Amino acid sequence: MDRRAKIIATLGPSSDDEFTLRKLIEEGLDIVRLNFSHGTHDDHLKNIELIRKLSDELHKPITILQDLQGPKLRVGKLPPEGILLIHGQKIALTPIDQGEYQDPDHLVTDTITLPLDVPNLARSVKPKNRILLDDGNLELEVIEVVKDTVFATVILGGILTSNKGVNLPGTDLKIPGFTEKDKEDLAFGLANGIDAVAISFVSCPEDVILVKNTIKEMAPNRIPPPVIAKLERPQAIDRLEDIISVADGVMVARGDLAVETSPACVPIFQKKIIDSAYKKAKFVITATQMLDSMINSPRPTRAEASDVANAILDGSDAVMLSGETAIGKYPLEVISMMVSIIKEAEANYHLWGYLKKHSLDQTQDDAVALTRAAGELAFDRDVAYIAVLTQSGRTALLMSKVRPKVPILAFTPEIETFRMLSLFWGVKPYQVPYATTIEDMVSFVEEAIIATNPIKNGQQIIFVSGLPIGDMRPPNFLLLRTIGKK
Ligand code: PEP
Repeated sequence: MDRRAKIIATLGPSSDDEFTLRKLIEEGLDIVRLNFSHGTHDDHLKNIELIRKLSDELHKPITILQDLQGPKLRVGKLPPEGILLIHGQKIALTPIDQGEYQDPDHLVTDTITLPLDVPNLARSVKPKNRILLDDGNLELEVIEVVKDTVFATVILGGILTSNKGVNLPGTDLKIPGFTEKDKEDLAFGLANGIDAVAISFVSCPEDVILVKNTIKEMAPNRIPPPVIAKLERPQAIDRLEDIISVADGVMVARGDLAVETSPACVPIFQKKIIDSAYKKAKFVITATQMLDSMINSPRPTRAEASDVANAILDGSDAVMLSGETAIGKYPLEVISMMVSIIKEAEANYHLWGYLKKHSLDQTQDDAVALTRAAGELAFDRDVAYIAVLTQSGRTALLMSKVRPKVPILAFTPEIETFRMLSLFWGVKPYQVPYATTIEDMVSFVEEAIIATNPIKNGQQIIFVSGLPIGDMRPPNFLLLRTIGKK
């Protein structure tokens, strides 16, 4: 059986050459993530052009996901070899524009001065607050604040290098979730045809609404790309239902989520997020460290293989690779391992899969009821495919959330929708001409299916569409069609 859950890979020096990226797409990559925390616009443009070229040559739609950096907090410039922070040592933290790293050997006191790119730090923290550096590998505790300088003591020491991330769990810095850099990056992305946008460090639904409104202003003439809220802050977990309601999709961004809460909380947050996303018919990506050891090794750990399989059985629509494909030594082996794990998990979906545990909230919605009926029908008859006709992609998403036993072939005349549809579980996108009658629609779709998919005379296809056809309405029409029968 074909694989249904989708694979997202982050592009980076290990994968952004034509030879490697072609192989990754051939191996099963569905969505490329461009991480705007790194690289210039020229680098990203080169990558977008390469992805489009390979997608055309390989006849495989690839979705381009623009991941905006958000208000990432960072350590300033340090000596190239980094500095050693020792347990119990006192540190003075200064705003990045007011102080440079100072070597204690050259000072009268033994206090290290560490520049941090963290707006409002001195105004926001209080004694005893925790400050985490480098993904939580190092930890400081605030002692006192004197004007713009925060004095802290080292709780967990280690080597710290320039630009490492800073996390302040439980501290509200009152800084906007959508930065000037994000705005410039988004304008660049929209101008160059990205297909979906992920926003980092979302804390409240307003963060998502602001990005959606900005997209409408910046690109009023295109079908808006889906906006994915990365859930990586405790504040976002507190407002989970409200954020999921306004976002098109969510990402369980387990890296920062673990730093800001605790690694112990992440497995349960993952299940909770997937469950809430399912109930609201939103798609969900599980991300970070899925096959992390494969950055340096051709084989994953057993725990990682179990993690990927469990993310699929929990109900993730897509699973994401970060360093594994961006900077790892084995990007191709990573994709092929992920494909194998997903296939094995999906072959056992009926036993352990998430439909046993979840139920969709929106029973009052005709589109939900109709797609659910199509899923049931596929079990009852000899159905080979469910064909959905979609303009915005919503019908394809609803159909995907039903987790039917057969592939979902999604037909759209809209190029933006066509390119975005690869995000959805079990969905294979097609671009077709606009149809104005049911007969035209059926013949476009059947021709495309017969040309590109195995199907025998006597097998059936379910059509899910809105009538009248040309109006591109939400689905209100189900057709069971037998191949070879007039
Ligand atoms: C994460 O923190 O898990 C994540 C996906 O975000 P980023 O890789 O942008 O830090």
